Amino acid sequence: MKYWSYFVMKLALAAALVAGVWQAMHAVWPEPEPFMRVKLDPFGTDLAYTFAILFLGLFAVALGYVAVLDQRYRCRTCLRRLRMPVTRGSWQRVLLGPPRTEYICPFGHGTLRVKDLHLESPEATNWHQIDNIWKELENLEESRK
Ligand SMILES: [Zn+2]
Repeated sequence: MKYWSYFVMKLALAAALVAGVWQAMHAVWPEPEPFMRVKLDPFGTDLAYTFAILFLGLFAVALGYVAVLDQRYRCRTCLRRLRMPVTRGSWQRVLLGPPRTEYICPFGHGTLRVKDLHLESPEATNWHQIDNIWKELENLEESRK
């Protein structure tokens, strides 16, 4: 729940930023002059305004993409960035062990496997929750005694 509420908050902040730029642009942009007593909408009639809207739309899409990409590489439990990428598999044995990169939460909450070979679409993220890595290690240590 914390993971998805953080994502929704990021998207809301991105939307607020785009809306703020939109409001600032409309506050600064000069009013169009009436043509034959008709006030035309500047979108589609004013080239500079149309391009400004185009770039604002591209900026909004880029913000959404960055938010999704950032969210994908975060721990599902503590929301920290996943670290320590390890390359596994081989490009020579694509059918037996395809190449992939594994990331781990610095506090041991789980691992994320990301495929390096993209053959299917859409690809599901492969998150493995680790229950309690430190408790497992303590149990291993106690079983040896
Ligand atoms: Zn974590």
